[in-house]
Amino acid sequence: MSQTIEQAATADADGGTYDVIIIGAGVSGMRQLMLLREKGLSVRVLEGGGDIGGTWYWNRYPGARLDSETYTYQYAFDEELLAEWDWKELFAGQPELLDYFNRVADKHDLRRDISFNTTVEKMEFNEEANNWTVHARDGVVLTAKYVISATGVLSALNFPDIPGLDTFEGEWHHTGAWPHEEVDFTGKKVIVIGTGATGIQVITEVAKTADHLTVFQRTPNWAIPLRNRPLSAEEMAEIRKTYPTLFPHLQTTSSGFIHQADPTTSTDVPREERLAHYEHLYSQPGFAKWVGVYHDIATDAEANKEYGAFIERKIRERVTDPKIADLLVPTDHLFGTKRVPCETNYFETYNRDNVELISLKESPILEYTAKGVRTADGEVEADILIIATGFEAFTGALNRIDIRGKGGLTLKEKWQYGPLTYMGVQVADFPNLFIMGGPHGKGGHGNSPRCSEKPLEWVADFVGYLAANGIERVEADPEAEKEWSEWVYEVASHLLQAGANTYVYGDNIPGRPRAYLAYAGTLPDFVKKLDDSAADDYAGFTLSK
Ligand code: NAP
Repeated sequence: MSQTIEQAATADADGGTYDVIIIGAGVSGMRQLMLLREKGLSVRVLEGGGDIGGTWYWNRYPGARLDSETYTYQYAFDEELLAEWDWKELFAGQPELLDYFNRVADKHDLRRDISFNTTVEKMEFNEEANNWTVHARDGVVLTAKYVISATGVLSALNFPDIPGLDTFEGEWHHTGAWPHEEVDFTGKKVIVIGTGATGIQVITEVAKTADHLTVFQRTPNWAIPLRNRPLSAEEMAEIRKTYPTLFPHLQTTSSGFIHQADPTTSTDVPREERLAHYEHLYSQPGFAKWVGVYHDIATDAEANKEYGAFIERKIRERVTDPKIADLLVPTDHLFGTKRVPCETNYFETYNRDNVELISLKESPILEYTAKGVRTADGEVEADILIIATGFEAFTGALNRIDIRGKGGLTLKEKWQYGPLTYMGVQVADFPNLFIMGGPHGKGGHGNSPRCSEKPLEWVADFVGYLAANGIERVEADPEAEKEWSEWVYEVASHLLQAGANTYVYGDNIPGRPRAYLAYAGTLPDFVKKLDDSAADDYAGFTLSK
């Protein structure tokens, strides 16, 4: 029988000493805990939220849903659960996903090792003792030989730099910290700020019940149809039969998705055939139309523009008012150079009488007011304000913890001009700290459970090895870090994405220097780098007794 959340939350109120502290009980943190238990290590997970689930715990907004085919997104390690869990939809919604992760937490009795409502505020490396002191909210202090941050790449909320939110008298919510209670839009005037992957999902849903919905759009996005559908028991039985080959196959794709870039170069295909192929892709579910398109769409601007023109025609066919369609067609970035949102009737939403689209390019927001939002063109009133302005991606969650390494150097100082890491898992001058799902690594990005699967195992094996061999300190070599970081920046620079205004370069956070934050190499290539280092006595790391 597992502990209750309340027991778990208070179990460690006085602190304690552990082999490993994991920060975050999301999809990666949960699995990391299981893997470290198998090594016989004492582990405590510190989680800021009230329960497990990470992304799926926080992002409860209406319409929150996967863009990866659901059966490719689950944990692959638990054959018993794979055999019994039936997914209901091809692309699961947030409630079904949270049910699934709760089932995993219950089955593996995870909560007994997790402190909830325990946000980590500060941690410092003790150079004499070779361990970390971790300070959590409410004065809880813990010590651990190793810390593994599994804080997620999209978890630090980004609020727009607009004054006066505290003066707004209605109800407001950021999509990334949505309340547990249902928010009822019936008869209400609602404003949504933001039209990224999140905004697109929430706008479509809220428009169905709100009296009036005003969408504030700064930049339109190249959204594509999700084509979700229910999965029948028969289809699930067929899908289940593929698991033994599916999961190994997903480790061979570039980002753990079922879709893989088409090796054909678009210009090698006659134009008519190409356009027929685009039609076919458009009828397919999910990222077939982004990740699965001809490979040169990501690197050749001319090839990209033809595909973009095809998608533009589709958008225009679906929007009744050509002036609204003009606003919805992206003009500032090429197709796929920012994360492509998936949608279900998003463009048709703007044909509804109760939905209004305001372009912030023409009419910028000046301030929040007591009644709503004031733009350069006047005040728009609202009962409910939805802030869908995304995250300080990749580095935000780590930068918001005061992390002090050797000589008191803070991670924030070290990364002031952009992240520096070795394989995304360690940072020189921050010994015994592992990062799972931060900048410059593959874990936690793409189809995240697939991308993090091998890196999580690699970290567990490494920490197990260090503990078994009495290693006191492990630290990335500065040369290895320099080489890796330069290579990460170099690989990214060849993609058309480098020309877009995107959060993978930190462009969404005012004042942040432009630096590539993600990892543009492939998943197999990333895992091979980790494995090669391990096979070479953990080359690039200094291990001291
Ligand atoms: P996002 O992609 O960063 O979009 C934020 C939106 O807010 C953009 O439209 C942005 O406009 C706007 N915005 C930001 N600051 C603003 C300001 N000061 N004034 C007005 N508008 C402002 O964030 P997101 O939509 O939350 O998505 C983040 C990521 O989460 C996605 O890329 C995806 O990886 C993940 N996600 C996944 C799913 C899924 O799997 N189904 C669903 C949702 C989200 P600009 O474009 O002009 O900056």
